Amino acid sequence: MKGTWRRAGAGVVVALGIFLIIAGIALVQERTERCAVVPVIAGDLLETPDFANLAPGTPSGVLLPAGWSGAATGVQVGDFTVSGRGRSFQLLGIANHLRTPEVAVRAGQSYCAVAQALADSTSATRVRLGFHWLDAGGDVLRTDWSGWQEVRRWNGPDDVQPWSLIGGGFIAPAGAVRLAVTFHPASDDRVYLDTIRIRRGRFPASGDMPTLLLERPDGVIVLPWPRGARGALSFSFDWETTMGGLIHSRSVDDPNFDQDPVARGMRMREGVTTTVELFRPYGIRATYYATGYNFLIGNRERRRFMGDPTFSWANRANRWQTDAWQQQPWFSPDPYGTVDTDPAWYFGDLIPLLQREGHDIQSHTFSHLYGGLASVEEWRSDLAEWRSVAAERNVPPARSLAFPWSGSAGMSYANWQALTEAGITSVTRTNWNPRQPQYHIVSLDDPHCRSVPGHETILACPDFYLTEGSAAEALSVIDRVVAAGGMIDLWAHTEEVVSPAQIAAWRKVVEYAAARRDAGDLWIAPLAEIAERQQAVALVQVEMNRAGLETRAEHGIEALGEPMRLMVTNHGISDLPALAIELPFLPRTATVNGADGGNRVVLNGSMLVFDLAAGEAIEVWVWPA
Ligand SMILES: [Zn+2]
Repeated sequence: MKGTWRRAGAGVVVALGIFLIIAGIALVQERTERCAVVPVIAGDLLETPDFANLAPGTPSGVLLPAGWSGAATGVQVGDFTVSGRGRSFQLLGIANHLRTPEVAVRAGQSYCAVAQALADSTSATRVRLGFHWLDAGGDVLRTDWSGWQEVRRWNGPDDVQPWSLIGGGFIAPAGAVRLAVTFHPASDDRVYLDTIRIRRGRFPASGDMPTLLLERPDGVIVLPWPRGARGALSFSFDWETTMGGLIHSRSVDDPNFDQDPVARGMRMREGVTTTVELFRPYGIRATYYATGYNFLIGNRERRRFMGDPTFSWANRANRWQTDAWQQQPWFSPDPYGTVDTDPAWYFGDLIPLLQREGHDIQSHTFSHLYGGLASVEEWRSDLAEWRSVAAERNVPPARSLAFPWSGSAGMSYANWQALTEAGITSVTRTNWNPRQPQYHIVSLDDPHCRSVPGHETILACPDFYLTEGSAAEALSVIDRVVAAGGMIDLWAHTEEVVSPAQIAAWRKVVEYAAARRDAGDLWIAPLAEIAERQQAVALVQVEMNRAGLETRAEHGIEALGEPMRLMVTNHGISDLPALAIELPFLPRTATVNGADGGNRVVLNGSMLVFDLAAGEAIEVWVWPA
């Protein structure tokens, strides 16, 4: 009996042991799947930041714990923490990021990063993580991106809800020896990041972004602009009546702020005629970014717009000349006249002229509000009112918007969301202040339209202020854009193209641009169309087709040897006229879907140029010369 008990006892111990091992494995698995700590197996690879020992990090020079860095001012040490004690990191600026120290990794193993995050701002926002894999030489092998993840808003001192858990997980690629993780915000809402960890393990899928959207065969390049033009250029004007920015003047960056707003309104009006005449001989279509009163032919009926707002943010603290707008309703200076009695205040009579000439009319906001200071309610109301008065003059809803005062700094996630929901697909006049790189979504140094982080249906496009003083530089800016394959918007206020000298300066640049266009280097189009073209071309897929070699004879060009066979698909909803594909060789002839490409494809140097409709897929066979 004793022996039996012992045997039974041993059995229980073994069973218990097996159970514990299985349970242990399950626990380890479960913990590594959500990037939680597992002693020995998945400990913290990142040392706890030493907030008592700060040093200036690169490139911003901001004081941070050793090894940590920020892209620009706006990353700093915060004292708002998960535990309520100690220190954390603060992240501010849509173009900013916080970067961890590098940790050692082994290729082929899974790594994850997690943090707790909270938005201390007017709206909730989103953050994503970048995993930067470095080789032994310190070069970046690859960057993997997590999806954008919700960071909830802190609701004040009574708010005791947990912070948002954000994270990402990826496998170290071959050759990777070190990893640094970066945290990027999707707006200018202030975000606190605390308890940042990097471990072995995984993180639940967070809508991770593919590293490459669409693979293309080696040497085959889908060129962004029609007919393979190397650069794209738009001309545009911020065009506002006295009720736009002129009466609400704010001194910053405005050379004419101290002048009579009615005289300025008259020059804004005159500048429409002068600029239309400037472009007509060249057949160039420009964009006029209009404020709301531009669509009125008067306001005898004393209409109230946007609920007759008073903008409390328009004050001295925010660099206005006066605090009066904190008390005075924004539209109260309206003279309630007509285009005849008060032509500086209403421009509705000029809209048909612009329409006849084929120019594009887009939004400079209804009220000429400061985008980074306005609330989401003010934005929604402004966007709706612009759309409504534009419709009265048969102008379609805006797809493009120029920020008044280049005032994009401070845009909350909710504000960007309001622009997205209103159908805006491009913006310009985003913050360019050299002292505030944390807000630079785009810059002249790298002249390309870029997705707004977290709102990728909107492209932000860079601009260059074209004046008498800058006209010479504008010519070299155009050269730079052509060399970079990018775009630039050349702009001024219409009031700044009225004197003979101003018109001459502009004419010199327009003439030069038209010549480069006629030489095939430059595509000139309204900014909205350039941005939409860029988005549409990104959805073109080109694949090498290796099937069906035996059907070559059907093409009747057997004697020419082996063709390159491409499947070209437009996955977008926009037609792509004059789509250009650059080949790694000079083509001699091409067929489309098995027929002579002569009517369909133009061969131009090493390029194929053809129209590709929305959703269309074609098979192109091309023989080298
Ligand atoms: Zn303006």
